[in-house]
Amino acid sequence: MKTSDLRLVHFFRGYLRRYVPWIAIALVAVLTFASLTAAMISLIEPIFSEVLLAGDEQPAGLSMLGSGDEGEDEASSWPPWVQKIKEKVNLAALFDRGYEALKASFNVDADQVVYFTPLLFVAVYLFRSVAAFISGYSFQRIGFGVTTDIRNDLYRRLLEQSSRFHAQHPSGSLVSRVVNDVTLMQVAVSNRLLDIAQQSVTLLAMLAMLLSIHLELALACLVGMPVVLYPIVRFGKGIRGTSHRSQERMADLAQLLSEGIRGHRVVKAFGMEDFEYRRFYAATRRHLKVNLRAQVLANLSSPVIETLASVLSAALLIYAGLSIREGGLSVAVFVQFLTTLLLLYDPIRKLNKANLNLQEALAAAHRVADLLEIPNEIEDQPDGPVVEQLEQGVSFDDITFSYGDRGEVAEGNGKPGEGKPAEKPVEKTVLNGVKLEIPRDRMVALVGPSGAGKSTLVNLLPRFFDPTEGAVRIDGIDIRTMPLAALRKLIGIVTQDTVLFDDTVRNNIAYGREELPLEDVRRAAAAAYADEFIAEMPEGYDTFIGEGGLRLSGGQRQRLAIARALLKDAPILILDEATSHLDTESEALVQKALRNLTRDRTTLVIAHRLSTVVNADHIAVLEAGRVVEQGTHRELLALGGTYKRLHDLQFSS
Ligand code: ADP
Repeated sequence: MKTSDLRLVHFFRGYLRRYVPWIAIALVAVLTFASLTAAMISLIEPIFSEVLLAGDEQPAGLSMLGSGDEGEDEASSWPPWVQKIKEKVNLAALFDRGYEALKASFNVDADQVVYFTPLLFVAVYLFRSVAAFISGYSFQRIGFGVTTDIRNDLYRRLLEQSSRFHAQHPSGSLVSRVVNDVTLMQVAVSNRLLDIAQQSVTLLAMLAMLLSIHLELALACLVGMPVVLYPIVRFGKGIRGTSHRSQERMADLAQLLSEGIRGHRVVKAFGMEDFEYRRFYAATRRHLKVNLRAQVLANLSSPVIETLASVLSAALLIYAGLSIREGGLSVAVFVQFLTTLLLLYDPIRKLNKANLNLQEALAAAHRVADLLEIPNEIEDQPDGPVVEQLEQGVSFDDITFSYGDRGEVAEGNGKPGEGKPAEKPVEKTVLNGVKLEIPRDRMVALVGPSGAGKSTLVNLLPRFFDPTEGAVRIDGIDIRTMPLAALRKLIGIVTQDTVLFDDTVRNNIAYGREELPLEDVRRAAAAAYADEFIAEMPEGYDTFIGEGGLRLSGGQRQRLAIARALLKDAPILILDEATSHLDTESEALVQKALRNLTRDRTTLVIAHRLSTVVNADHIAVLEAGRVVEQGTHRELLALGGTYKRLHDLQFSS
């Protein structure tokens, strides 16, 4: 395990802690499963010697039945310390003693053994299945439980992250983290960890059985085993490598194909059909070559491995045959030994596979941990001062701001380039010493050319970003010292890109407060001049509006957003007027709705319409991050500066 993986252990310990009882159950079940598998094997010898061959005339080699007897015979050929260890860890002998004890306690005689032992086998198998079920379920329980918790935490973190974070992490890659990476982790914990725990314990148990059934034979097999295992692993690697390359070649093909088809006009216009065809032909040849190589490997692997296995089997058989003739081994013991040997293969195969999947899951877990570890730069102060009722107003004090590259975070093991803006953002001061007062219940309009920093300034108020220097204050209190929730409760926002959810009209207006009586929702809608068109919808307030409000016109969407803000009834309002052209009628309705909304509210508006600018109590002209002029419409016109120029340009029509 690498040190970076240890970090993961540390990271997910908190999540695993909740599942300690399940982990305990899982471990007990895994141990039980392995022991019962060993017990099952230990029954093979008595099944042969007592159930099947008992009636025979003691064929050669069967004179020695229990493995204990045969162990003694071997004693001479091993030094005493090996003998000691053998006795200590003689699993087979232990199970044999258990079997004899059971037989004794049930008073089973030689005739009844024919029934007893097979039934005992069934009973052991049954318990083993129960253990398999419990271990399987408990690992699933842990896997699904942990990853559900992680997914929820991730989503909460993503929701709380700053706008800067979201600007740097494309939504697609975030969704992929929460959906795909967490699923990879879930599969790893639920299935692969189960495999690793179950199979490694089983592997150890099988090895112990193998060694205790017949030490010499076991050692010989263990020496021979790598001869078979090595080609299995090699072939496996080779096949995986070629199938990966085959996929890459296929991707090349698809790329050429779609380019050629989509660009068929250009291809024809330049007479490049032959050229394109030759490119495609070369790519298909490469694909073919890789595939054929994969087939050679795939078709070669079984014969090679089987031939090797048959050579080893032959060696084993010769040895066993000779031993049985000499009386050092019984057929029953040999069958038991062979079964154990075959049962060893499954854990090895599963462990090999689990290891591969686990690598993928580890990479995913690193990406998830990276994401969870990114600190939120917008720090909440849950115990800070709360402004209940706005008294003085809002002030921007000497605000300097740059998007900079602060908070930029590496994407962990993510694909390079993914999740980051293509080029490093240049450190640029977007706001430079901005001073602005919005007295209570007044409307301040921000005007200025595009890119002047208007949206940026407005985004500082709900703390989507924090200023680099200076402070935003509400009633004289720095908003960074307030609880975030309390701050955002004070602010209503209506922006150009109205965000509507695929839900009913009513729930979109009441957003998050479904307990509000319909009457309240209706009153807000009426004040937003939305009541009428809602009433005309097929199911009125219960009509689903489709993703993003697709079934609504721009003006209708705006009025729904206004109704939502009216219902929130926050004392401070941020308004980003729509620049998109609404038809005159809906523009008039939106205007009227906005007048209802802004009445008796402290409003900061990014103004695009002359009517708004004229009606504002105060206008600030922003240019390249500075407030260059301030005053009323009249004053600014008289000044004959930037405002006059903008006014003549934009509002003259
Ligand atoms: P306005 O609203 O006046 O059109 P903005 O506040 O949107 O201006 O933008 C001001 C400047 O900040 C522009 O130069 C813009 O490119 C830059 N900017 C806006 N948003 C980001 C962002 N998320 N990351 C980096 N730069 C940004």
